[in-house]
Amino acid sequence: MKNSIRVVISAPSGAGKTTIINRLLEKNNNFRFSVSTTTRKPRRGEINGESYIFVTDDEFRNMIRNDDFIEWAEVHGHFYGTTKKEIDRIEEGGHIPIFDVDVQGGRALRKKLDNGVFIFIIPPSIEILEKRLRNRKTDSEKNIRLRLKNAIKELKEFDIYDYIIINDQIDDAVYRLESIVAAEQCKKERIRSIISTFGGEDDNTT
Ligand code: 5GP
Repeated sequence: MKNSIRVVISAPSGAGKTTIINRLLEKNNNFRFSVSTTTRKPRRGEINGESYIFVTDDEFRNMIRNDDFIEWAEVHGHFYGTTKKEIDRIEEGGHIPIFDVDVQGGRALRKKLDNGVFIFIIPPSIEILEKRLRNRKTDSEKNIRLRLKNAIKELKEFDIYDYIIINDQIDDAVYRLESIVAAEQCKKERIRSIISTFGGEDDNTT
């Protein structure tokens, strides 16, 4: 779909990105999640082809060689990548893709993706982020420290993004995400080609 937007979302872990994306997908049928390919092992409840396409290191390397990815990166010791095929699949179905990528992915897509809207989700404060990471009870103390260190590093990269959503309240954050997309869709640059199909003569008398 020409001129259709692509929504790229990044956030430090614990900022609530996955919850916000899932809420948006439940509420609004215009969007589809871009399923990345990864070499990390599935977590409990993750289904191959839904959360990620899970592949081996060798398979991932082959995909790099075949130029299958629009971007790929190593995150926390595993490979993650967005395939060109996945973007085509979503857009051929008439939907808007949502990409969940780390800041390296954000930076790469900024250079390679047309019509991207780049959104960064951040926690209200570093103290709240730490509390959220602890409440998840999924990480060891060492891991929480590492994630916090990475979060502080990632937060400094906010300038890559067009919009920043402070996730203080989930419904409000989802509302702001939808509003950003709606405003982007109304941008005159995106509507220009539609207006040009209206035809008619230029009339300077009115
Ligand atoms: P997780 O393993 O927790 O699902 O994801 C770890 C990180 O990898 C998250 O920051 C997520 O945004 C990022 N990620 C997921 N898919 C991709 C991808 O296709 N490309 C890049 N660059 N990062 C990704």
